[in-house]
Amino acid sequence: MTQIYAYIPHTNGVAADAALEFPSAAKKIDDGASVTAVVTGSGADLDKVAESMTSTYSQVIKIDNADLAYPNAEIVRKALINIIPADAIFLAVHDTFSMDLAPGLSVKMDSAYAADIVDFEGVDGTNLKAIRQELGGAVNIHVNIDISSGAVITVRPGSFAPVEDGSAGGAVEDKSGDAGDLSAKRKFLEIVEAEVGDVDITKSDVLVSIGRGIEDEENIEIAQELAEAMKAVVSCSRPIVDAKWLEKSRQVGTSGLTVKPKVYLAMGISGSFQHMGGVKGKPFIVAVNKNPKAPIFQVADVGIVEDILDFMPELAEAINDL
Ligand SMILES: Cc1cc2nc3c(=O)[nH]c(=O)nc-3n(C[C@H](O)[C@H](O)[C@H](O)COP(=O)(O)OP(=O)(O)OC[C@H]3O[C@@H](n4cnc5c(N)ncnc54)[C@H](O)[C@@H]3O)c2cc1C
Repeated sequence: MTQIYAYIPHTNGVAADAALEFPSAAKKIDDGASVTAVVTGSGADLDKVAESMTSTYSQVIKIDNADLAYPNAEIVRKALINIIPADAIFLAVHDTFSMDLAPGLSVKMDSAYAADIVDFEGVDGTNLKAIRQELGGAVNIHVNIDISSGAVITVRPGSFAPVEDGSAGGAVEDKSGDAGDLSAKRKFLEIVEAEVGDVDITKSDVLVSIGRGIEDEENIEIAQELAEAMKAVVSCSRPIVDAKWLEKSRQVGTSGLTVKPKVYLAMGISGSFQHMGGVKGKPFIVAVNKNPKAPIFQVADVGIVEDILDFMPELAEAINDL
């Protein structure tokens, strides 16, 4: 039977959304696979997240060690090496932490490595068929991963449908004693909290999110007028922050903030996975883009091919006239 281990990221005792996405990914690898959640960390927060996983996973492994309190991939890798069977499939989220963790782990396990997978198409012999995307999502690449001696795979967040937080009735197994020597060459110093801005985009039900399509700093006012008309808040993609047109606290994405609005207006945003990785909770997505082939249209509920500099003022005017 295929053995799959899912590495659960968590903060302050709360598992990341990916915890509910791994079971769907595992099912697409092998419907009959045994799937085990793995949580590393320390103390009460670790206990809380491990316990919370028992409703989704029938088996949960926790590794508790003071050295694992901070997300140091070097130490996590050392612990996992002693716990994950060599021929297992290890899944992690494709994020900055896992880009640090996964390649080295696959070398140590002498197993295959595949990054940023967006879909699986089952196992054929010893080949796991998987899909990646290239060219900003315009092209799907089909890859065969030889899993005869296991595999370490990172999956793109948001690519697999989250399962209901169910009633798996699982149990937590404490494998802390098997982690072995966790000494490290890299020392963790501190966590620096993100700056707090003038608005909290994570709390807004409606976001008017602007991307490079806004073209000029002066045009941001147009988005703000639309947001005012909709009682929404303006958020943005990373290039807008890089250009210093809006502050970092407005950035949505994997290196920005995670938002869970009810309605998400993507204005002149191409729809990169780094951006969409920050859009959670299945909002109703309205995308406006000049390019009919923009990847954002693949995830939008409503797609409009239009110049946002014409569209936004017209929509604001129509709403204000109601
Ligand atoms: C490690 C890493 C982390 C990252 N983290 C993030 C992150 O947290 N958040 C994030 O957003 N990005 C992030 N990025 C960057 C990401 O890869 C993309 O480059 C970025 O999301 C693209 O932003 P965009 O869609 O605004 O710009 P583009 O990709 O340039 O898209 C602009 C879109 O606007 C359209 N357009 C142009 N003019 C108009 C107009 N007048 N009217 C209508 N449409 C128009 C174009 O057709 C295009 O589709 C990260 C990248 C890396 C490598």
